Amino acid sequence: MAEKISLNAEGSLQVPHHPIIPFIIGDGIGPDIWHAAVRVFDQAVAHVYGKQRAIAWKEVLAGEKAFNETGSWLPDATIQAFRDYLVGIKGPLTTPVGGGIRSLNVALRKALDLYVCLRPTKWYPGTPTPVLHPEYIDMVIFRENTEDIYVGVEYAADSDESIQLQHFLTNELKLDYDFRANTGLGIKVVSEEGTKRLVRSAITYALEQKRASVTIVHKGNIMKYTEGAFKNWAYELAEQEFADQVYTWGQWERTKAESGQEEANKEQRLAEEAGKLIIKDVIADNFLQQILLSPRDYSVVATLNLNGDYVSDALAAIVGGIGIAPGANINYQTGHAIFEATHGTAPRFANTDTMNPSSVILSGVMLFEYLGWNEVAETITEALAKTIKAKTVTIDFYNQMENATLLKTSAFADQIIANF
Ligand code: NAD
Repeated sequence: MAEKISLNAEGSLQVPHHPIIPFIIGDGIGPDIWHAAVRVFDQAVAHVYGKQRAIAWKEVLAGEKAFNETGSWLPDATIQAFRDYLVGIKGPLTTPVGGGIRSLNVALRKALDLYVCLRPTKWYPGTPTPVLHPEYIDMVIFRENTEDIYVGVEYAADSDESIQLQHFLTNELKLDYDFRANTGLGIKVVSEEGTKRLVRSAITYALEQKRASVTIVHKGNIMKYTEGAFKNWAYELAEQEFADQVYTWGQWERTKAESGQEEANKEQRLAEEAGKLIIKDVIADNFLQQILLSPRDYSVVATLNLNGDYVSDALAAIVGGIGIAPGANINYQTGHAIFEATHGTAPRFANTDTMNPSSVILSGVMLFEYLGWNEVAETITEALAKTIKAKTVTIDFYNQMENATLLKTSAFADQIIANF
């Protein structure tokens, strides 16, 4: 009998053998890629567990389909379903123009306080890439998902609010800045709690997965009290909560100041030899160079919302583009998680059965890992890798490969299943 996934008193996920998982089919190319992906998921579960386990998929509405059927872009019942069933998956959704909703994705993240945007990036052999050594990329991005400029505190140049705020800054806070006529304003929001829960998740993940380092990516040299504070809080949390398991560049700096650089280097080397997780930081602009110049130095990355947006797209481009980039939005405290392809609805290609379903399929792989069904995740990952290596691919990859075989979305899924 199908049952709900729940969280026990210790905060671990309890996954029944027949869990109910809500899904949003998505707009545009959503139905094409979902229908392909769900066959891969179900066949992989059957391949690994026979009749012992199966997912009971439960469709919930959002986007155009919801609007056409209920008059609401994001019905309360959909949010409630994700709340009740804890773990869900979604296709891409059209962003409604007007109507008071900024973005359905943002609304869902906000409703469930999904504070981690998780984006793993690694390269599958054969995938078209613009770099020489894409295999050096194996990074997992933890992007803060609820703060930064994304909170939407913005005032248009000609609004009363912008003028009032300018007056307040000049008159009350004695800001020494000459505002020009017609100036829009936006506010960047970064809190200690928001930073620490994100960084705690990244460090916990890195320790569990035996990763070598967590890199804090920030622009604290310029934005001292937001991005700089993010860096300081990240180091503080690492040293307070994970003292025995990590070595931070903050510690290195202190040792260098007290006993010299040689001593600091020695301390770090000993920590590495003892298997400690290294916590370091890089300025965001430099990081965008480093992912091209020395990607092997980076493993898990913890960063703010806007940096995370840029960094994950840059990394996705290196390993094959948005057709193969998966993601998840997670609250590790409540257990709530929504897995999703990171691309949009590509409306021009709706119902053509041509687009790449890999990003939804790999989002499903992340979902199975989250459930602890690792054999299913591995079965799918290996079959997908085999399919790409054999150059049996959809149009996006076909256009960039020599001697490849062009497959429809549905046929690509058949090929993955044949490769289990
Ligand atoms: P898009 O990601 O939908 O498409 C850009 C281009 O990327 C497409 O023209 C296509 O060439 C390529 N592409 C996208 N998905 C692909 C796939 N699976 N396989 C192969 N190629 C693929 O971006 P857009 O055109 O800027 O946005 C269209 C709509 O999607 C907008 O309404 C936007 O708001 C929405 N959107 C939704 C999400 C989401 O739900 N997560 C994310 C981004 C954009």
